[in-house]
Amino acid sequence: MKIGVLAEQQDKRIAIVPAVASKLLALGVEMCLEKDGGIQSGFADSDYEGVECLDRQMVKDQSDVLITIHPLPEEELTGLSNDTLLISEFKPFFHQDVAEKLKKHGLRAISMDMIPRTTLAQSMDVLSSMAAIAGYKAVLAAAARLPRYFPMMITAAGSIKPSKVLVLGAGVAGLQAIATARRLGAQVEAFDTRSAAKEEVLSLGAKFVEVEGAKEDTGAGGYAVEQDEDFLKRQREEVQKRAMNADVIITTAQVRGRKAPVLVPTDTVEKMKDGSVIVDLAASTGGNCEVTRNGEVYQYHGVWIIGDSDLAADMPQDASTLYANNLLNFLKLVIEDGDLNLDMENEIVSSACITK
Ligand code: NAD
Repeated sequence: MKIGVLAEQQDKRIAIVPAVASKLLALGVEMCLEKDGGIQSGFADSDYEGVECLDRQMVKDQSDVLITIHPLPEEELTGLSNDTLLISEFKPFFHQDVAEKLKKHGLRAISMDMIPRTTLAQSMDVLSSMAAIAGYKAVLAAAARLPRYFPMMITAAGSIKPSKVLVLGAGVAGLQAIATARRLGAQVEAFDTRSAAKEEVLSLGAKFVEVEGAKEDTGAGGYAVEQDEDFLKRQREEVQKRAMNADVIITTAQVRGRKAPVLVPTDTVEKMKDGSVIVDLAASTGGNCEVTRNGEVYQYHGVWIIGDSDLAADMPQDASTLYANNLLNFLKLVIEDGDLNLDMENEIVSSACITK
């Protein structure tokens, strides 16, 4: 069996790094890589020992399993041989016709974002790996724009108060953002609808903002559930009070398969201090801030709005390494004696296989 890795076309990452390629070869598979595929993450073709470096078309023609982080565009699906297994983040919750399209082309697909968020599958969880990087980078992006220090400074030229950071959504990205902002010396407040998040927020030295009456569902696999309008209204009021004093707001609140809740409406942004910064990691699913423009950085009413859900791609080397490790842990589950064995009795495999 041959595993092919294609270069990302809208990203600096690469799905498989050299150290992981060696471990895959040791499982008895053959491997090929699109020429210069790892170059933007700092990995030269010569680093991939034992891996054939070919042009893109040849990788597509020769591979039984094709790996990319972002799915291939539909025009690249025609011409792939029947039964090729594609491994990517297909996001079927947001692109509901994706499985049908793939089946139409006779292809099978594993969607890495569909791997269950269970203890057993933790080492394969690309969403967590990338969200943690995004949370860290969000704070750095905010600090770079902010016309102020993050930490308190006492100098001969005077004292500087610490910046105030408000984090909305304390999941994987939010917790990493809190930890990073705390390390930089900011005062941090955070909010989440899941009560389990409270203890984690407090343990990182941040304050937890309470809004009574959030709906939770223990059967939702750890994910938040959609809140009713009454709750969201009270939440927006609470956010507004804090936003007026905040220097930075980092928003990460998502509800799986739904549009992200609006937590920072336009009038809240208009009440914020000039020069303050909002980093909206939920930008690609509609944004937590009403004036976010996905993929854009601009100033609204004196406030910098950074709408970016792909901040992990801005740290391509470590992001690729973690991504590749997650893939390796998944592939170990489905490679047996150098061949593919997709065991649909296995919960991880059947959840991730979107074309079964
Ligand atoms: P996510 O990206 O889906 O959402 C980010 C955060 O936004 C979540 O914490 C969510 O509760 C919160 N949120 C949603 N609506 C909100 C609102 N109106 N106001 C404020 N916050 C809101 O979540 P995630 O970071 O991917 O993590 C989801 C869950 O999965 C968490 O419980 C996490 O602990 C769990 N998890 C488990 C594992 C594992 O066991 N393998 C791995 C990763 C994550």
